[in-house]
Amino acid sequence: MLLVLAGEQSVAQSTNTFKSRIFHELDFDKPGKQLGYLRVPQSRDGGAWSTIEIPIAVVNGGKGPAALFTGGVHGDEYEGQIAISRLARRLDPASVKGKIVMLPAVDLPAALAGRRMCPIDGRDFNRCMPGDAGGSFCQMLAHFIETAIMPQVDVSIDVHSAGNSMEAALCSIMHWVDDAKVIERTKALAENFAAPFNVVFWGVDETATVAASAERHGTLSISTEIGGYGRVRPDAVRIAERGLENVLKWMGIIDGKPDITQPAGGRTRQMMVRDQGSYLFAPSNGLFEPLFVPEQKIRAGELAGYLHFVEEWAREPQPVEFPIDGYIWMAPGSGRVKQGDVMAVIMQDYSPA
Ligand code: CA
Repeated sequence: MLLVLAGEQSVAQSTNTFKSRIFHELDFDKPGKQLGYLRVPQSRDGGAWSTIEIPIAVVNGGKGPAALFTGGVHGDEYEGQIAISRLARRLDPASVKGKIVMLPAVDLPAALAGRRMCPIDGRDFNRCMPGDAGGSFCQMLAHFIETAIMPQVDVSIDVHSAGNSMEAALCSIMHWVDDAKVIERTKALAENFAAPFNVVFWGVDETATVAASAERHGTLSISTEIGGYGRVRPDAVRIAERGLENVLKWMGIIDGKPDITQPAGGRTRQMMVRDQGSYLFAPSNGLFEPLFVPEQKIRAGELAGYLHFVEEWAREPQPVEFPIDGYIWMAPGSGRVKQGDVMAVIMQDYSPA
């Protein structure tokens, strides 16, 4: 097969006019299963014409809706990398009506290093959308996903855990958006993904994420935060695997009825993080001793933990209180915190008002 560039462009000399420096051998419209790579040019000492090969699978079963599943956007979040690559190997195009594009390890250099930030350019991939065709490694790749992949899909699931620095309640997540119909449709998607919780959230820095890219394209989208602390949670892998398959069933891409049962009974619990009042930011540098774990019920004014100052051993630790009632969405994993770091995020039952 001939190597083709993204789209039918010619590459001009100016960084402002070419479409992408990334090339690949995939045909997104061709029926069948293709396991391949996006080749991102990465000239380096000892490798003038080197590329970094980002794994990508396309399973195309002809007419029908299209889904994008991404994992490893952060390299220290592992459940999505496992679940999506396993699904890509297993899916049979004969049982697919529509198309599934899967990138199990989007920021492959970060995934191989077990890091959040990309070791090539020092960036957080999930702060790079919509990217830049003439930019750094992450910016080039972000631009390709924004321009060549996102426009062709109807639904996007970006599988995250909370990485080395935090642990999350087992949940899918979605942004507050202005359109109430989009909120309801996205909550329905989340209920069919069927993590124990779905959190409609206000985020600290969300404009350049994969989810924001999906929203720009009118693509129905959720992300997840299943576990964290830089390890693989067995129950989180199962939630991701069942959730992705559930979404394919709900979209009619594969046959079957989603299994949305919960161990505690009922359905996915719909939650929210409405604004920054739900965040507990560190008041100073220190060693944080939390008195809570994810999903725990807490009350406003209750003691959240202590900030210790180990270099001033005679100084009493500083008590820190929860700002509102609710349940722990995010717990810290890093021990040492800097002033302004997030030490906890609190979720509450969803209410639209
Ligand atoms: Ca993440």
